[in-house]
Amino acid sequence: MMLKKLELHGFKSFAKKTEIVFNQPVTAIVGPNGSGKSNTVEAIRFVLGEQSSKSLRSASGKDLIFAGSQHIPKMNRASVSLTFDNTSRVFHLHNVKNEKINVDFDEVVITRTVYADGTNTYHINGHDVRMKDIVELIASVHIGSSGHHIISQGEADRLLNASAKERKIMIEDALGLKLYQYRIKETEKKLSKAEDNVQELHALRRELAPHIKFLERQVKKIEQAEQLRGDLMLRYDTYLAQETILLEREHDTYRREYDALTAEHATLTAGLPENQAAGEIPEHQELATLRAELDVIQQQKNELVRSLGKIEGMLELAQSSKDQAEHPDAPTPSIRILFDDVKDLARTLEGYIDALERSESLQDMRTHAHAVRSTLHDFMRTYETEVPTIAEPDPALETKIQELQSLYASTKEALDTHIQQESGVHERMRMVRERIETHQQSQQEAQRAYYETKARIRDIESKMEMLALHHQATLRADQAFQEEINEGRALIGDRIDGYRESGVLDAGLHDQISRHSQEVLRKKLERLKIKLEEIGGGSGADVLAEYQETKERDAFLEREIQDVDMSIQSLKTLMQQLQHELAREFEGGLEKINTQFQEFFALMFGGGKAQLKSVDIIKRKRSESSEAEDDAESVLLDEEEPQETGIEIYVNLPRKKITHLEMLSGGERSLTSIALLFALSQVNPPPFLVLDETDAALDEANSRRYGDMIENLSRYSQLMVVTHNRETMSRAQVLYGVTIGNEECSQLLSVNFDDAAMFAK
Ligand code: ATP
Repeated sequence: MMLKKLELHGFKSFAKKTEIVFNQPVTAIVGPNGSGKSNTVEAIRFVLGEQSSKSLRSASGKDLIFAGSQHIPKMNRASVSLTFDNTSRVFHLHNVKNEKINVDFDEVVITRTVYADGTNTYHINGHDVRMKDIVELIASVHIGSSGHHIISQGEADRLLNASAKERKIMIEDALGLKLYQYRIKETEKKLSKAEDNVQELHALRRELAPHIKFLERQVKKIEQAEQLRGDLMLRYDTYLAQETILLEREHDTYRREYDALTAEHATLTAGLPENQAAGEIPEHQELATLRAELDVIQQQKNELVRSLGKIEGMLELAQSSKDQAEHPDAPTPSIRILFDDVKDLARTLEGYIDALERSESLQDMRTHAHAVRSTLHDFMRTYETEVPTIAEPDPALETKIQELQSLYASTKEALDTHIQQESGVHERMRMVRERIETHQQSQQEAQRAYYETKARIRDIESKMEMLALHHQATLRADQAFQEEINEGRALIGDRIDGYRESGVLDAGLHDQISRHSQEVLRKKLERLKIKLEEIGGGSGADVLAEYQETKERDAFLEREIQDVDMSIQSLKTLMQQLQHELAREFEGGLEKINTQFQEFFALMFGGGKAQLKSVDIIKRKRSESSEAEDDAESVLLDEEEPQETGIEIYVNLPRKKITHLEMLSGGERSLTSIALLFALSQVNPPPFLVLDETDAALDEANSRRYGDMIENLSRYSQLMVVTHNRETMSRAQVLYGVTIGNEECSQLLSVNFDDAAMFAK
């Protein structure tokens, strides 16, 4: 016997603690109307977790508590306990991992208490539990709150009245498949939760995506900047190392050149001779004196030449006169010019021309040119005046010729003397001129040396100026070098000092360093700096950290999604398994039920056919069904939704053409219901069956058949029957009478068959 006892305390009409002990296969509860028999049935529903107030015939939980009578005050709670035998350890629960765990007690007592405020508490063996645990526990022994095994008064044809869908649920319950449904529901809940979760995770990832993209761009920039900094550092190393060498070299060169130039300048300045201006040369005076002397001599000489010419002319005239006289036919003599006169003239002119050529000033030139002109003038005048006259033969002619001849000789002598004097003066002048020339030459030499030195000094000075300019540039480069380092430090930090490391430059390359090559390098540096500035500065440590963090969060979300997706998959698989198992079990169960149903039905009706069939339930979409009413077929085709199955009952009474359940009489309905109920109970016998006046509508013959079936059923399940039927009472081993006692509450007492029969109708 699995069901051991039912205890009621404060439940409905059972104010006092009341115990119904079940120690026989069939226990009957008898008593007058309204004594509280059905309340015991409700007590069982209640303790098994029934939530529907309709099933408990109460508006609220409070109505379940004894309301009080004239003798007994109202109570503040109603409590019902049901005790099961568990020596064969049939009860089990599922732990959080959905593993079965046995309830390791010989007895299982489930208790439910409802309080005046409507709250409920549940206990298993005195331990606080949730209702869910009770449901699960009793489901493990094929009983449930749906109550296929508890048939309340007037509810016998519940299965018949139910919709196909409800019927299916009840049958599932009867087959002990409620657990599947329960687990499918749980899985569905978990699935939908997981799906929500995945959606949420996806949404979070989507939210994160633009931020990650943004950060990625930032990080790329930072990386580029870092790479640029690396490039910059290498270039800086070379540039700064080269610049150091270059600057040192420039300073050295400056120092060396400055020293050299300064020294040379000092030497040249110290050794600079006085500037000898081209002053008066004393010999010039001497020369002038000699020239004046020469002039005098030449004048006198010229006088003498002219005189001599004149004398010669006169002599010739005298001679030709004499010849004329002696030879009158002789032609008139032409003027004769003395060759000596011509020679003298030529020599004099030559002298002047010489002097002219050597003239040192315009004045000198003029003087000599004048001398030339006056000499020629004098010469011409001498001969122009000599107009030849035809002389009369003169006795004194001979004398005159003689006089002239002697005059000629003396004049000639004087002329020779002058000529000698003249050449003497010429010689002296030549010597003086030589001296002047020597003097002038040495003076020019000194001057040239002076100017040369001067020029050299000027040259050095301008070189020094250039050098100073260069040095200025070097000093500016020094400053620029420092500024470059400062700027570089701002860009690449202390890595800028790397150029100091020896070995940055190959010593062999030192000679190749030039301002030009540095300039090329510097331009490259500038370009890099500009690029770096364009990318934007900062080490970006915080951006990198944020990127890392965000990436990790994203990866976490991704893993989370994968995990949840996996659990969704396994939940779906579980769902399918459960549904599959459920369907399989259900089909198998249904077959067995049908066999039993057919048997019980035929037994009850003495033949006929009864069958349960799975049918597809087609739901119609409400919104469109009204419009599509004219075209029923298209409604069916278009508006089909995922199918649900239900269970329909088909009966065929013997000798009657019955097609609908609705066509059955009350008694027939009752019999069909009982046949079905018993069929259900047979397939998967619940530990106990409670039947509240299921037999109310039966006539005597059927009551006997009913009684037979009760006996039959009691071999598999304990039975508690509330009945007014004598036949049924006769099949019970234990009879309890319920009455309303003096204290106006239900009272329970064991009665014998004869006492019980008093309550039979
Ligand atoms: P019948 O044979 O006519 O079906 P019954 O023996 O099954 O009757 P029940 O329906 O079980 O009788 O009992 C109903 C009785 O219980 C009523 O008299 C009702 O007043 C009483 N009752 C219901 N709820 C409470 C309550 N909360 N406090 C006290 N009495 C209650």
